[in-house]
Amino acid sequence: MKNTYDVVVIGSGFGGAITACRLAQAGRSVCVLERGKRWDKQHFPRTLGQMAHAFWNDRDHGLLDYRVFPNIDVIQAAGVGGGSLVYFNVHKRAKPEIFEQPRWPRNIKRSALDPFYDRAKEILEAQPLTPPAGLPLPARTQALLDAARAAGREPDLLDICVYTGPDRLNPYSGVPQQACVYCGNCMLGCHVHAKNTLDLNYLALAEKNGSEIYPLHEAVSIEPLPDKDYKVRFKDYQGAPGALEIAAVIGRRVVVAAGSLGSTELLLRCRDITRTLTNLSSRLGQGFSGNGDALIPTTRNLPREIDAASGPSITAGVDCSTGSNQIYLQDLGIPDPFFWYLQAGVPVPAKLHSLWLVMKEYVLRILGRGGQHPLRVEFERLFEGDVIRALPYLGMGTDDADGKMRLVDGAIDIVWDRHSSRAMFTEMESALKELSQALNGQYKASPLSDWPLSKLLTAHPLGGCAMSDRQEDGVVNEFGEVWNYPGLYVSDGSIIPTALAINPSATISALAERNAHHMIQRHTKGFNLFGV
Ligand SMILES: Cc1cc2nc3c(=O)[nH]c(=O)nc-3n(C[C@H](O)[C@H](O)[C@H](O)COP(=O)(O)OP(=O)(O)OC[C@H]3O[C@@H](n4cnc5c(N)ncnc54)[C@H](O)[C@@H]3O)c2cc1C
Ligand code: SF4
Repeated sequence: MKNTYDVVVIGSGFGGAITACRLAQAGRSVCVLERGKRWDKQHFPRTLGQMAHAFWNDRDHGLLDYRVFPNIDVIQAAGVGGGSLVYFNVHKRAKPEIFEQPRWPRNIKRSALDPFYDRAKEILEAQPLTPPAGLPLPARTQALLDAARAAGREPDLLDICVYTGPDRLNPYSGVPQQACVYCGNCMLGCHVHAKNTLDLNYLALAEKNGSEIYPLHEAVSIEPLPDKDYKVRFKDYQGAPGALEIAAVIGRRVVVAAGSLGSTELLLRCRDITRTLTNLSSRLGQGFSGNGDALIPTTRNLPREIDAASGPSITAGVDCSTGSNQIYLQDLGIPDPFFWYLQAGVPVPAKLHSLWLVMKEYVLRILGRGGQHPLRVEFERLFEGDVIRALPYLGMGTDDADGKMRLVDGAIDIVWDRHSSRAMFTEMESALKELSQALNGQYKASPLSDWPLSKLLTAHPLGGCAMSDRQEDGVVNEFGEVWNYPGLYVSDGSIIPTALAINPSATISALAERNAHHMIQRHTKGFNLFGV
């Protein structure tokens, strides 16, 4: 690693990868610090033993980072490629209405973002699922399409960043890719490289253009220097366990792209603990949104078999917006290893009941009593209609984005109260019940949202470093530059000031393209990166 770069990027998810790529293409020297590992496709967790090490901590450096807070849990990723490694591949633009809300900077409208959305869609190769040769549409996809139509709604086959054609070399990285094999493990990394993850496209382009990527490097503080550069201190996890090295690198520009939680936490520490950035806004940490996520509500006991784990994890969706709220529902597949891990670990009463039924049947048959088929036990009962005859969903909607991130004992905490967003969640539940009824199944709320936990789980944390037109209303300006700190930028999900009511990566990507374009134009007179 050199002492100084034109740009130091912190984090390699959608915001970081796009920034690194565009600035490197424009001839800047770029260094990317990423706390997670570089993942090889054969090392993604699949067995239960591997699942036990799949979660992020200082020792395992796992792929998934699950955070528990009092009223909401957050799942996110760690690794070179950030959320793209584990995401469900959906690439969908937020509706124009979203950008009309007063919290958005006035210049950021859907029409202004469209050219940047186009650019990201091209590189991520997002398109509706075309089944790989010899395979039909997944039964889960068909069930969602049928449910929506039977409920009188018009569903969409979603754009997803999944490759389904003949074996090829990825056009950006040259990495061999195979067609999706419908294993349904998208959340645990793709072992055939069918997912068009950021390491196969934007980050590969960044490296081709000279960017240096440092995995297992976690940024811990940012400090302005007298000559307008910034010093970034980082932990280096690459040495022997326990032999942590703290070192530093200087950036003429620094782009924080550590995700909504990561960026907000880092900047809160710089403001309140290391006190190296004391002029950061008092709005830092405010405006947290879980994107109105409702994960894993389910239609159970369907009259047809689905096997929800088969196929890319999300494939279809339906707009269920009302006069007052934007709401969007999608099919959702849970990877089998993850499901088995939960099944093995969580003792729910329904499981004990079904286990009792199966054991009773088993013993009766050993004794030669009961049942017409003496050698057969109905093992399907073990899951009581929860596996084969169930359609899980992901719901997203316009929550009020009124959560607050803060530091407690130096670590991020989220204060979130769903009261102000209750009307939206009630409307979402009505739409989910409507779909369940249309399929002649039984609606079941997400296990976390049910009594006694009554919690939410989000995979789409947003906000914390919101954009604003006026310094007093946000943390960064409309191009992600931090108020009071010229040359320091934030470019990731944390700058989004409201819920998007749709999977956010496309919008984060479009904003990152726009921010990078601005950075390049601003510092290179007459240079236009891609003619926008
Ligand atoms: C299971 C799952 C499924 C999802 N499915 C979808 C989907 O289908 N479509 C969609 O649009 N979105 C989806 N998402 C959400 C999507 O992944 C995120 O919105 C997106 O990745 C956020 O991009 P980002 O640039 O803000 O941050 P991230 O992609 O989260 O990247 C941040 C990176 O910064 C690193 N980092 C954090 N702190 C530091 C530090 N201090 N120093 C160095 N590095 C650091 C992290 O390890 C991470 O790699 C899903 C998320 C999950 C968890
Ligand atoms: S289902 Fe997901 S993880 Fe499995 S091959 Fe397809 S894209 Fe990859």
